[in-house]
Amino acid sequence: MAVIITDTCINCGACIDECPVEAIVDEDDNPTGEELYYVYPDKCVECVDHHDEPACATACPTEGCITWDMPHTAEYKEFFAGPNYIEGKNYVMDDPDAEQPFRSDISDEIRKNREPVVE
Ligand code: SF4
Ligand code: SF4
Repeated sequence: MAVIITDTCINCGACIDECPVEAIVDEDDNPTGEELYYVYPDKCVECVDHHDEPACATACPTEGCITWDMPHTAEYKEFFAGPNYIEGKNYVMDDPDAEQPFRSDISDEIRKNREPVVE
């Protein structure tokens, strides 16, 4: 994963067209079945090479709704395969060896704590 939309999402739609890689889907297409917008972790690139910060979080009107998550790379495969994996809930890993760009200035601690991308 890269960024994740939490359950404070109000389904306003402000984020979806801001994503440069079409990683966001609305509640009707959320693969977890939750009534929330959803970020496909294997598509999200944390807006690296597109924007200075994740554009979805900048656009989101709901405070703290979009948070950091671990990068979706082979290096962190064990993290997602371990106790953090909740089937059908927290990620879809079509290609566990997929390499994605991600923001190296965001620490693992921030990611594990799921701290807000924008305060
Ligand atoms: S961080 Fe950027 S690439 Fe990732 S879902 Fe948000 S807008 Fe899309
Ligand atoms: S902008 Fe925020 S509140 Fe609106 S749909 Fe996206 S994640 Fe949900």
